[in-house]
Amino acid sequence: MRRADVSELQRKITELKEEKNAVLLVHNYQVAEIQEIADYLGDSLGLSRRAQDAGDTDLIVFCGVDFMAETASLLNPDKKVVLPSKTARCPMAAMLPLRVLKSAKEEHPDAAVVLYVNTLAEAKAEADVCTTSANTAEIISQLDEETVLFGPDKNLAWYASQRVPDKTVIPVPEHGHCNVHVLFGVGEEAMRLKEEHPDAELLVHPECNPEFQMKADYVLSTGGIYRRSKESDAKVFIIGTEVGLVDRLRREIPGKTFLPALDYNECSAMKRITLENTYQALLEEAPVVKVPEDIAARARVPIERMLEMSG
Ligand code: SF4
Repeated sequence: MRRADVSELQRKITELKEEKNAVLLVHNYQVAEIQEIADYLGDSLGLSRRAQDAGDTDLIVFCGVDFMAETASLLNPDKKVVLPSKTARCPMAAMLPLRVLKSAKEEHPDAAVVLYVNTLAEAKAEADVCTTSANTAEIISQLDEETVLFGPDKNLAWYASQRVPDKTVIPVPEHGHCNVHVLFGVGEEAMRLKEEHPDAELLVHPECNPEFQMKADYVLSTGGIYRRSKESDAKVFIIGTEVGLVDRLRREIPGKTFLPALDYNECSAMKRITLENTYQALLEEAPVVKVPEDIAARARVPIERMLEMSG
């Protein structure tokens, strides 16, 4: 789309949003033209907090993936939540079907069940507490149980086990992962960039492989990467996460250089959301994301507990 057409569609979305008293919540991995018109742009934790605080909004338009819109709906049972594309489904969230979680719970009846928010509501309904990449270690460290079932991301489970060594963290399923973050491999390309830019800071997301995490200067959520990039004295950063965040960093932090740790590593699920289908979703107030109330009532509890437990 030509820039003039992009600006025109952005203007129409902004106008319609105000007319309908709607709010546009946008994840850091969305395309730049959607990020630019967000009412709130952030990571899963920030978005959950913002969704909890939706106030007198009539309509939430969620530019992210299925489990994020579900979480917004769980926290706002009386509001309409729309996800502009029904196909914006996170493959990692689908890696933890209910039967797998239930069988792990039967095998470890004394373990706490801690689930990444990147899970579907039916799995959350079985959890003691949810976490995001920003607070997983912090929350696990506060639990009384010594053994923790954590799913679905085995790399985030590894990250938490390193930071909370007095707990046994068991990944469920054994090999759950994010297709996007494992593509960074053990960080070969990032190391090549580091040779070219020895003063660069390497900031890596905890969904990446442990071998890559171990090479990083900091392992952080997307919100954490954003804050570190702003606060650090470094001038060059190598970013080990989805490329949408690199777009945001370049736009909002001028004067610093941001290099993706792998050229154009993008999440195809996130990129199902476009300006066109966002406008259509706002216009038609569809597709609606609504979790059946019997599941929602149980799935809401671990999310609210997470929000209470994270600092
Ligand atoms: S980046 Fe990975 S975890 Fe995030 S939505 Fe895409 S597939 Fe799911």
